[in-house]
Amino acid sequence: MTDLAALQSVLDRAAEGGRITKEEALDLYRHAPLHALGQAADAVRRRRYAGTEHIATYIIERNINYTNVCVTACKFCAFYAAPKDTKKGWTRGLDDILRRCAETVELGGTQVMFQGGHHPDYGVEYYEEHFSAIKKAFPQLVIHSLGASEVEHMARISGVSAEEAIKRIHAAGLDSFAGAGAELLPERPRKAIAPLKESGERWLEIMEIAHGLGVESTSTMLMGTGETNAERIEHIAMIRDTQDRTGGFRAFIPYTYQPENNHLKGRTQATVFEYLRMIAIARLFLDNVAHIQGSWLTVGKEAGQLALHYGADDLGSIMLEENVVSSAGAKHRSNRQEIIDLIRKAGRVPAQRATTYEHLVVHEDPANDPVDDRVVSHISSTAIEGGTAHPELKLISTN
Ligand code: SF4
Repeated sequence: MTDLAALQSVLDRAAEGGRITKEEALDLYRHAPLHALGQAADAVRRRRYAGTEHIATYIIERNINYTNVCVTACKFCAFYAAPKDTKKGWTRGLDDILRRCAETVELGGTQVMFQGGHHPDYGVEYYEEHFSAIKKAFPQLVIHSLGASEVEHMARISGVSAEEAIKRIHAAGLDSFAGAGAELLPERPRKAIAPLKESGERWLEIMEIAHGLGVESTSTMLMGTGETNAERIEHIAMIRDTQDRTGGFRAFIPYTYQPENNHLKGRTQATVFEYLRMIAIARLFLDNVAHIQGSWLTVGKEAGQLALHYGADDLGSIMLEENVVSSAGAKHRSNRQEIIDLIRKAGRVPAQRATTYEHLVVHEDPANDPVDDRVVSHISSTAIEGGTAHPELKLISTN
């Protein structure tokens, strides 16, 4: 039988800043009343951001998918094409990538997230060439991209160590790692959904190397592919252990599995209820990670808005382009005004942030809200046969 008094006492300790154990986190995740969980997580957020606790942030960015060709064949992925599938596979040229960067700058975006398959020919040199070209053309754009899986892959292709790969792409212009590819870090669920990816331990090891070299990252978790509650908690425990040593994870971003067009075929999915509980547990358990991101792309806007009351301090990004989770069925779209409204109606003051979470613009007065109806999230089109990228946007010359 659940001892509510014992659970409340753990919640009180966490709310006051005490560290909770993995076992306590699992107990809270399974049994604590939802509102009590949210209240404790919100207390932690308010204390951490005392003075700016009335603010919730968002960022304007663009995902740039450079290829869908991938040798790793993750079972949850609806985006990739096997190298032999020449009909489905595509790669994007540097000119096209630079044009997308130009549009990002034109629309007030501050960050690009390079995201793509593990192409059998793309070693460190490919990323060096592309990152240095982007930085040369748009030094103001932050390249917050890739993750440990891409590092492992490119290092193998180029025959160098992960450390050397990171040093070289950092020198070429990579600012920080987006932390994709974490999926589920514990061995059983990771093998079940991404058998060809590096182990969770190796993913963390590469992030630790990056942090040691001064390249910070965010961290992510894919929820709802059949993992147990204990495995979810183990995932965040592995992140907390690494973070105790490095301090290099800026944020934790859970998101939910989308069931269309992939080999898992929608057997399981995390509910909004489970998602909100995870946001709250993350805020309580990850006492060494500053930012907890509420997402709206996979869980929906209302769930994202609610997350701001369960410990999240950030509502993620207006993605001017997104293809990866959209290919698996994420249908939610938004725009800058709507994100600002969602935050404001959650009782918080919206602020556009930088990659490093500094506030760039605080939208104190609704009368001064930015008006640009081109700042809209899209599925771009090159994942869709015959499409063109953002035909409605003015193209900017990169010359
Ligand atoms: S998730 Fe990434 S690594 Fe896995 S198959 Fe898709 S593109 Fe490849």
